[in-house]
Amino acid sequence: MNIPKSTLPRVVIIGGGFAGISMAKRLANKSIQVVLLDKHNYHTFQPLLYQVSTAGLEPDSIAYPLRKIIKKHKHSFFRLADVIHIDTKNNSVETDIGNLAYDYLVIATGTKTNYFGNSAIEAHSMPMKKVPQALNIRSLILQNFERATIANSEKERRALMNFVIVGGGPTGVELAGAIAELKNHIVPRDYPDLDAETMEIHLLEGNNRVLPPMSEHASKKAEQFLKRLGVNVHCSTIVKDYDGKIVRTNSDLELHSETFIWAAGVTGAPVKGLQADALMERSNRYKVNRYNQVEGYSNIFALGDIAAMTTETYPYGHPQVAQPAIQQGQRLGKNLMNLISGKPLKPFTYRDKGSMATIGRNKAVVDLHKFKFAGFFAWFVWMFVHLMALVGFRNRVIVFFNWSYNYINFDKAARLIIRPFKKE
Ligand SMILES: Cc1cc2nc3c(=O)[nH]c(=O)nc-3n(C[C@H](O)[C@H](O)[C@H](O)COP(=O)(O)OP(=O)(O)OC[C@H]3O[C@@H](n4cnc5c(N)ncnc54)[C@H](O)[C@@H]3O)c2cc1C
Repeated sequence: MNIPKSTLPRVVIIGGGFAGISMAKRLANKSIQVVLLDKHNYHTFQPLLYQVSTAGLEPDSIAYPLRKIIKKHKHSFFRLADVIHIDTKNNSVETDIGNLAYDYLVIATGTKTNYFGNSAIEAHSMPMKKVPQALNIRSLILQNFERATIANSEKERRALMNFVIVGGGPTGVELAGAIAELKNHIVPRDYPDLDAETMEIHLLEGNNRVLPPMSEHASKKAEQFLKRLGVNVHCSTIVKDYDGKIVRTNSDLELHSETFIWAAGVTGAPVKGLQADALMERSNRYKVNRYNQVEGYSNIFALGDIAAMTTETYPYGHPQVAQPAIQQGQRLGKNLMNLISGKPLKPFTYRDKGSMATIGRNKAVVDLHKFKFAGFFAWFVWMFVHLMALVGFRNRVIVFFNWSYNYINFDKAARLIIRPFKKE
């Protein structure tokens, strides 16, 4: 891997997501050699993937080069590498570009889409976890509009204009709202030969309310906003099958659709090599103690979505969102420096700053500890928080410009089929 030999202890971090980069930043310019490995050469700001899927933002405004993050850090290296195996006996990771020895290993590999063992759904649905997948959805939506304009039958046209989103968590809700805005503002202008009224958006959620992790107030408001935008919300509805044409559910509801987006859940993305009981079976996350140390190992740590740190308040681990990942990265950075210099470690405590979701222009819901609010102010807060959380000044400026342009013109700038999506 061409990493120089050094007398400094080597920390290998697998994954340049929120957790991995927050830890790498904390170790910057310290007497530690840091090697960051990721199978992509960029960090993805996943909370805004849905805006790439719906032509609101270009992908490069939510992705950021990992090399740019660490380029000024002394003793830090990045390698574009897919980690395949961990050899815990020899303290080494095996990757597609070679092996690398570590003194300390930090696993921050996040999650992957969970299809709950349904292979038909896995084969035919559109996941949205990565930038290329968001671009696939963007292409498919636009291709389906194009195909609808030349469809031979009403049945075919309706299937092309029917959009089904599974999962009423923040991702599904935000995506449904953004597709509804395409229907309300873009389709009538760009596709005068299509009747926008025939376009349907269905949001399917297994729970009895949307946004189950948020307050009842947020759920109720979000559902109202969605309905106002014309989204059909189906709660207590579980998808049983999708063959590429028809969505079948646990009720009488059957939907003909060419666009079936799966936002129903994630499962951990562990790397092979650790003993089986280091993983929590139900979520595929590594069991870690309050210092993020993986059960059974003294020099292997896990952070963020892939780590299950169980506490009284979080019996199944912290919520799989950005804040715990960032905060754990910062804490472990400090703890590792203490460990190396023989100082005591401090246990991790999560500071929950609240949660939020947007449903479209002027519509969002925010749950803070004491305050719960919805509507324009919530939307403003949502925009501000997301803008500030984006990695890189350039990205913040571009996103701000795009959002302002969209707001003033009711327009979405990236309606491009650059790389056509082909169903296999
Ligand atoms: C569509 C979507 C919307 C979301 N919206 C929100 C939101 O609004 N607010 C919020 O707080 N959270 C949101 N989340 C969740 C949030 O993005 C995650 O909690 C957060 O990204 C977790 O950070 P992480 O560092 O643990 O993992 P990730 O950010 O997923 O990073 C993992 C990294 O590891 C790399 N990797 C994985 N396996 C390997 C391997 N074997 N070898 C090399 N590299 C590897 C990946 O390429 C990736 O860069 C959303 C997630 C999704 C998918």
